[in-house]
Amino acid sequence: MKVAIPKERTPDERRVALVPDTATKLIAAKLEVSVEAGAGAGAFISDEAFAKAGVQVIAKVAELLSGADAVLKVQAPSTDEVELLKRGSVLISFLQPATQGEIVAALATRGVTAFSLELLPRISRAQSMDALSSQASAAGYKAVLMAAARLGKFFPMMMTAAGTVAPARVLVMGAGVAGLQAIATARRLGAVVSAYDVRPAVKEEVQSLGGTFIELALETQEGEGGYAREQSEEFLRKQRELIGDHVAKSDVVITTAAVPGRKAPLLVTAAMVKGMRPGSVIVDLAADTGGNVELTRPGVDVDVDGVTILGTRNVPATMPLHASQLYARNVMNLLLHLVKDGALALDFDDEITKGSCVTHGGEIVNERAKQVAVVAS
Ligand code: NAD
Repeated sequence: MKVAIPKERTPDERRVALVPDTATKLIAAKLEVSVEAGAGAGAFISDEAFAKAGVQVIAKVAELLSGADAVLKVQAPSTDEVELLKRGSVLISFLQPATQGEIVAALATRGVTAFSLELLPRISRAQSMDALSSQASAAGYKAVLMAAARLGKFFPMMMTAAGTVAPARVLVMGAGVAGLQAIATARRLGAVVSAYDVRPAVKEEVQSLGGTFIELALETQEGEGGYAREQSEEFLRKQRELIGDHVAKSDVVITTAAVPGRKAPLLVTAAMVKGMRPGSVIVDLAADTGGNVELTRPGVDVDVDGVTILGTRNVPATMPLHASQLYARNVMNLLLHLVKDGALALDFDDEITKGSCVTHGGEIVNERAKQVAVVAS
């Protein structure tokens, strides 16, 4: 069975779905591994490093993909790339099936069995494959460093001969995987951290990381499986009203709030940004999915009366080395789950295989992806 890893073609995507360590493990599992020349360059992995691990380096992407039984990617393929995939082959990547109707339809037409990492059931058996979590962790960490680099203040308290400096106040909104990593990182840098989430269950996790959990006088409800569910507009309006004071007192606000498969909720209005002190910094990690901050412009740094809003896109790609290392392991674990004795063995009775599959046998097999694909066609 041949496994191929093409170079990522999305602008600014520096991650790669294979690292030498995962290549060695795939080869040990009796798979033949090939990579497109230069695929690891953005993550500082040379073709020589791949070759040394036993990987075949192929210059032409068409040759690489046409012979592949399984293709591993980070970003969804373009329609041109889909045309190069072998009928009956397997694709594993982030596919954003809820919004990428055209690509999903093209994959089905092409007869590709595509697995989307966003759909992987978050059960303990699938934790080693959970790319959403590994990449969110990278984003949460980096968001704090981005904020610290922009803030004209120290994060820790400083007692110097020239006087004492108060620590920075950091507010994290959304305490999921990214938010918890942001809390831990900001604490390590010495900031005073508070956090808020609609799921009261995260209170203890926030506290165990040294953060203060903000409780608002609001009835909150959790969705299925411990995840947030979409809150009503009335709830969000009250939430913004109550959190306004906390935002105004913060030097740094990091927003990470998301609801799976939906547009990110609006947590910080333009008026709330205007209530912050000049020099404050907001990092909106939800910029790619609609933004938690009203004035965020995805991919652009915005200045509002001295308050900086960073809407950096694809933050995990700015940590290409470790983000690739973790991602490549997640993808390898999913691929090995689909393989037995060096050949594909897809068991659609299995929760992981069934749950993450988007297209198979010429059909779109995921309900939500099906609806979007119909709208797109
Ligand atoms: P996510 O990226 O979908 O959302 C981030 C956070 O935003 C969540 O904590 C959510 O509650 C919060 N949020 C949503 N709407 C909000 C609002 N209006 N105001 C404030 N906060 C809001 O979530 P995620 O980080 O991918 O995962 C969330 C949780 O799921 C994790 O913390 C973890 O407990 C759990 N999880 C479990 C597994 C597993 O294998 N069992 C794996 C990964 C995550």
